[in-house]
Amino acid sequence: MSCLLMVAACSSPAAPLSLPASPSSGTPTSSTAAPQPGTATRAPVVSADCSSYRAPDPHRPVLTADVTVTGRSVTGTERVVFTPDRTVTELVFRLWASSPRPRAAGGSSTLTSVAVDGATRTFSRPVPTLVRIPWRGVIGRPVTIDLGFGLVLPRGADDRFGNRGTTSWFASGMPLLAWERGRGWATEPATSAFAEASTSEEMRLARLTIHHAAGLTAVATGSVVSEDATTTVTSAPTIRDVAVAVGAFRTVTLPGPVPVLVAVAPQVKDDPKVVAREVVRATRVHVARFGPFPYGRLVVAVLPDIHGGIEYPGAILLGTGQDKDATVSHEVAHQWFYGLVGDDQARDPWLDEAFATYAEALDRGTGDRYRSAVVPVDGVGRAGRPMTYWEGRRSYFRSVYVQGAAALLRARAAAPAAFDSQVRCYVARSAHRIATPADVASAMPLAVPALRRAGAL
Ligand SMILES: [Zn+2]
Repeated sequence: MSCLLMVAACSSPAAPLSLPASPSSGTPTSSTAAPQPGTATRAPVVSADCSSYRAPDPHRPVLTADVTVTGRSVTGTERVVFTPDRTVTELVFRLWASSPRPRAAGGSSTLTSVAVDGATRTFSRPVPTLVRIPWRGVIGRPVTIDLGFGLVLPRGADDRFGNRGTTSWFASGMPLLAWERGRGWATEPATSAFAEASTSEEMRLARLTIHHAAGLTAVATGSVVSEDATTTVTSAPTIRDVAVAVGAFRTVTLPGPVPVLVAVAPQVKDDPKVVAREVVRATRVHVARFGPFPYGRLVVAVLPDIHGGIEYPGAILLGTGQDKDATVSHEVAHQWFYGLVGDDQARDPWLDEAFATYAEALDRGTGDRYRSAVVPVDGVGRAGRPMTYWEGRRSYFRSVYVQGAAALLRARAAAPAAFDSQVRCYVARSAHRIATPADVASAMPLAVPALRRAGAL
């Protein structure tokens, strides 16, 4: 996230989805740039696996959760069934409500109970966002983890956690299994910036039950399974994280590539229909460019205290008035870059931010501004640095979002159709996974020189 534009998370269907035909097969893309003569001869070979998204891991974690939201208080339980693909000596969860930004505004997270395969377990919490549960796990053998937790939502944090009156929201709020398949536990430090340091693989959301006061509405990641005056239940085939918002919302649902539900909090004046139209428009543009929308629906909560937007899988937390600039387009683009194609947001924040900014620039015509932007001296050639490098620096947005997007835009300028094919190949091959810079280099050779100059590779 940044001072102007924010980031988020998401889920996706269990089956591979067909992508639009690539330019090399003769179908034009929705690119805003004019096709350039001669690009066909430079088009790289697009391998067959780029015609559909890779399928999610059939052994991905399964999450079942139950939360009660009352003003600033959230209490809940969650069950995670986790099947390690490597030998583990501990189970690691992250409590992101205890990271510096919400904590400075009165937010916190507590873990009230821990059981593994039905037996109570001890745990340590060496830093506020990190929980370690000693456990010896075997490859391929599922382990069932039951956690009880509580959140105190901050006020005025300008973040994914907050409460004003009866409006409450939290994302990355439930204890988050910090596993990265093939690598291990993601234990990077939290950030104090308007940004993320969280990492999580996709999981199946078997059931998320949200209890709230009568007269309020809950919107959340996933599709609605059932809903009554005080309870909303959602589920999703495959998502990376969860966002929840509860309030006396004004709501509108519009059809698009997927249904778009916009819920506006009473503290802000936005017209839900106007916001929804912009979300649907941006969704159509990005679907045409990158492939099918990764989730069954998209919910957008327009909330007080947030300046910009924050992306989650199938959900966006948005500040007021953000439909008037490029923020909506940026956050919708994150449904592919962070949502469908995940990244370690602490280690490689550019992977989702540079691509979302790039997508937004193509859609909203902000590319010239980004290409001509001055990158601060401590960020020049350092777009690929981790969040720990940006801690305390004011150059994160221009160095990572803008410098990274500008590199992609420059690389695309020479051969837009071929470049678009390579982006689609990157998305298709890395779908439902945590991508790395090496995955970009492998799928997008046309981008490598510019990304190297920017320090992203
Ligand atoms: Zn972003």
